[in-house]
Parts: sequence; C-alpha cells; structure tokens
Amino acid sequence: MIVSNVLFIVAGLLLGLAFQGGMLLFLIPVAGVAAALGYMNLPRVPGGKTAPIPVITRVAQATGISPAVTPDIRNFIKDDEYNEPTSTLRVNQFWARTNADVNKATNDVLQGLKRIIPNAYSLIVFSPLTNFKEWSIREYCSDPNAQVATDVRITENSGLISQLFRPEVNRLLEGDLMGGKSLLYYIDNPMIKSLVAVPMLDREKNRIGAIVVDSLYPNAFSSATAQALTYIASTLYTLSFKSFASTKNYIAQQQFSVLYGYQHKFFQTMSVKDIFRQIFQYVKENIPYDRMLILALDKQNPEDSHKEREGRVVCCDGIDSEQFASKKFTLSDKGLAVLALFKNRPVARDFGSGMNQYVPRIDDKEKRNMDFRQLFVMPVSSDKNATLAELAICLESRTPNRYSEHEMELLKAFAGVAGFAYVRACQFEQGKDLASRDGLTGLINHRTLHESLRTEKIRANRQQYNIGVLMMDIDHFKSVNDTYGHPIGDVVIKGIAGAISGEIRKEIDIVARYGGEEFVVGLIDTTPEGMIETAERIRQAVMKLEFDVHQASPLRVTVSIGAFLVKPEFHDMKKAVNNADQALYKAKESGRNQVIQYTDLTAEHVVVEKGA
Ligand code: GH3
Ligand code: MG
Ligand code: MG
Repeated sequence: MIVSNVLFIVAGLLLGLAFQGGMLLFLIPVAGVAAALGYMNLPRVPGGKTAPIPVITRVAQATGISPAVTPDIRNFIKDDEYNEPTSTLRVNQFWARTNADVNKATNDVLQGLKRIIPNAYSLIVFSPLTNFKEWSIREYCSDPNAQVATDVRITENSGLISQLFRPEVNRLLEGDLMGGKSLLYYIDNPMIKSLVAVPMLDREKNRIGAIVVDSLYPNAFSSATAQALTYIASTLYTLSFKSFASTKNYIAQQQFSVLYGYQHKFFQTMSVKDIFRQIFQYVKENIPYDRMLILALDKQNPEDSHKEREGRVVCCDGIDSEQFASKKFTLSDKGLAVLALFKNRPVARDFGSGMNQYVPRIDDKEKRNMDFRQLFVMPVSSDKNATLAELAICLESRTPNRYSEHEMELLKAFAGVAGFAYVRACQFEQGKDLASRDGLTGLINHRTLHESLRTEKIRANRQQYNIGVLMMDIDHFKSVNDTYGHPIGDVVIKGIAGAISGEIRKEIDIVARYGGEEFVVGLIDTTPEGMIETAERIRQAVMKLEFDVHQASPLRVTVSIGAFLVKPEFHDMKKAVNNADQALYKAKESGRNQVIQYTDLTAEHVVVEKGA
C-alpha cells in the first residue's frame, strides 16, 4: 500500500469521526491536512493525455440514513415578521446555518486544493438544485482574474461538464482544450486548456454534483489529480450528508421534546378553553405566521342531524384577523380553512406573486388581503380517518414558501396530540354539563345556581356592586297541564326559558331552572331600577309568547316575579333567594302576572309593576 493511500484513509477516518454525531468538528482541519499530504505523496504520472476512465465501484460508504437531505434555504427569516416564534424551533434557521457550515467547509477544501494543485485556475463544486438533473455552483475558488458565472445552471446537455451526468463517465481529464467556450461557467473566455472533473455521487449513485478544476496551461493535470478529486468528492458528500442528517436529527429531537411538553400540559387540563389557549400558545411559540385562525366544529344535537354542520372561529391573531373573531360558518362556505376542517385534510396553497386571484379562507364576505403568499391549514382530529375534523389551524404568511415540510410535519404531529386532548376535554365538559344542567331547557340546575351565586357574590364583594335576584313562577300552570297535557306543558317551560335567556346578558347574568316551573335569574352588577326593568322585560316577553295547541287561538301564559336586590353589605345568598321567593308569593297573592320587589328595610312588599 502506498503512503498516499494510507494518508487518504487516515483523512477519511478522521472525517468520519468528526461527523459521527456532528460533535468533533475540530478534526476537519486535521483530516484536511492528511488529505493534502496524501495528495502530495501521490506518485506523479508523466504526460497529460486523457487516461482510460476507471470505473469507481465504491464511492460512498453506506451510512444507514437515506436519502440525502437537500437543504431548503429559501425561507430566510426576516425580523419584521408579525409572529416570530420565541422557541428554539426555528427550523429554517437551522437549515440555513448548516448550509452555511457546509459551504464554509467546502470552500476551505477548495482553498487548500488550490494551494497544492499546480497551475489550477479555478476550482468549483457544483451541487444539485431542486432535483439531481440540474446543478449550480455551490462554492468556488478561482484566480483573481477569472469571472465565474455564479448563476450558471448545468443540465444534461449543457457543455463539457454535463458529460458527468452520464452514468458511464466517472471523470473528465482534458489536456488540450481549444478554449473555454463549452465550459459555460465563465462570463469571460479565459482560454482554458486543461480540465479535470469528477462527479459527486450519493450512496444511491445519483450524480448530485461535481468537482471541477481547470487550468490555462495544457496537460496541467494527471490521472492522479482526478483520483484525488474522487476522494475529495466522496468526502464532501459525506460531510454535507452527515451535517444535514445531524441537523435533521437535532430538529426532530427538539420537536419531540416540545411536543412532549405540550402533551404533558394537555393532560393537565380538562377545559376546552384552556385547550384552545394551549394550541394558540404552541403555534405562536413554534411556527411563524402573519395570521393565525383556529376553527372549531360546533357540537350538534342529535335532533338537528338533518341540519348543515356549523362551526366558528375560536381564536385569531395577526393581520386583519379581528374580522374573523367568533365568525360563524357552515359546511357550504367554501373557504380553504373551512374545507380543511370539513374534509379533515391539510390544505397548503402558494399564492405566487403573479397570481391576483383571491381564494376565501372562510367565506366570500371577508376582507380580501392580497398580501398573503402562503396558506397552510392543518385539521385537528382525534381520528385521522374521520370525515370531519374537530378543529383546524389556519396559518398564513406574506413570505412565499414560508412553511417548510418540517414545519408542516411538526404541526401535524402536534395536531395529533391536540386532537385527543380536545376531544377528552369536550367529553369531560359534557359530563359536567349533564350533572349541572337541566336536560329540558339547558339551563343550570338548582345546585349549580347556588354555587354560581356564591362565586358571583365573592366577585361582587371585591368590586362592591349589587346582584339582582329574580324568582319567577308560571301562573296557573297546573291548568295548562290539565288542559293540554304534560308534553305541551314541557314546550311552555322550554319556551319561557328561551324568553328569559333572550332578555339577559348571555355571558354575564345567570339563569337557572330552579324547580318544575320556577326559574331564578341572577343579574350581575345591577341597580334597583335596572333589576326591575329587566324583570319587567322578562314578564312582557313571556306574555308575548304564543304556543300552538292546534286550536283557534294559540296558548298564552304569564309569570309572576319576585325580586330582591343583594347589596354589597348583604351576604347570605340563600336568604336572598328566599326573599325573592317571598316577594313572588306576594305577587301571586296580589293577582299574578306582576313584578314585586322585596325591600329588607321595611320588610314591605312593594308592587312595582302590575300587568294589565
Ligand atoms: P300558581 O299560579 O299559583 O303558580 O299556580 P300553578 O298551577 O302554576 O301552581 P304551581 O306553581 O304549584 O304548579 C306547579 C305545577 O307545575 C305542578 C306540576 O304539574 C307542574 N310541573 C312541574 N314541573 C313540570 C314539568 O317539568 N313539566 C310539566 N309539564 N309540568 C310541570
Ligand atoms: Mg310553582
Ligand atoms: Mg305556578
């Protein structure tokens, strides 16, 4: 075995060590030195005639990782973006950094070669663009006078170098070229006389680029130079392969640990609202966007199964997102985000700069912002085979090609975890609802009313406001049941529950079905006048209800209402309900269909409103 071969093997081993795990990078220069020494110790072949082309059988060692990872560095991250994730998961930045490292190492190798290959004019490494069929210059090191055409594209039929695309060509060794014309990679024409070039092969023997060295002198290179370049090509391939593979692993590791953290958080929450909050937080921390929407499918009552499915936007953030807040949509809205939810399929769309047509995200009525260049919608579902998803995360960016495959994969993995957590929280809340709500009207029950009043009272004390308590009972309800039957009675109870809910503030006030045909309302932060006004509105709304009983005229009912104002200094909420009940009793006594207020100072029942 000759000295140079030993040195090349040493260089190879050092490089192998350097990239195993990607941690021993300091060994690269040592490997470079060994390779250079190896080259210098190669026996010189006299003359410069094109030597017979040896077939290289084993270029790259199998690494166990396939296929070669080609970096995508189109998505450089700009600082003026709306949402810049704060986490370490800036996938595109990792790729860009690795790409820069590989370029630097490649350039170092070329610089080194330039110093030891006599008469070299330019040394160039070509690497593939999006596919293996087109190469561009990755790095070069040339004579100061050379004008390298950095944007040149080498395809299968372009010039001398393109011969390296042919599977039977394992090197080019030209000693007496006529000029530089067919080389294509120069802007000027430096009259190149010699050229040596070898293809760069990946482990599947795909031709993923080339190393080219040229010279202004004839017969400048020997077949030994070609051989050395073959080793270097193999080393450079391993270098880039290992670097990208280790970056890929690193990203996967990071993704796993972030996902794991969120899975943990998800299992600690049983509230649907918290799940939405966590999904929002995760996306904000990990994936860049200019606008984010989270869509949720509404629950459907079994009796509404003939109706179209509906959903709404439960969370939105970013440019022009306010218009989507709590926006409702139905199955027939053909927006891209809606489509992903109702088909349980991810939707990715690039709006290239030439395209001026707008595709709705939710529906036709939304404001058309033409700035967005990429959209990606990931459905969230506990069952990937389900026909409908439960949620959808819709991300938009003004940067084209913003979402790399990695980010899409990441969101997919997260969506899987989130889907389970969401369904679990929904089921839990549903179970809680069954225990705390009345099945006929959907209002909270007796027990929950007292809990809610207690909690509200604590808040009211802190902020020193009043709570109005209304107790109401349907007048002569027994006769409704007796005349029209229990089912009609139930319809009346349901109708009255709806009328009451329509007269109070939905997210603020409380309404409960207290007993069979009795209801209690808690008016949060009200005045004596406000309380009576609301009670009166409810009384009149009930009077306006008409129930079809298949007779000439519809059934009408009335309610009597007792009211009691809980001032900050009054603390017993049970007594408050009792006082309202006493006022109700008085209202019944004095003729029904009226509102009576209980005043605790005089214990006098004041008739405030009397129905006509
Ligand atoms: P008043 O004006 O004094 O309130 O007379 P009333 O007939 O309404 O008397 P009361 O409030 O005592 O009547 C309660 C009746 O409500 C008795 C019961 O049959 C009926 N009821 C209670 N719960 C339900 C229910 O869930 N469905 C139906 N259909 N009727 C109910
Ligand atoms: Mg009653
Ligand atoms: Mg009654």
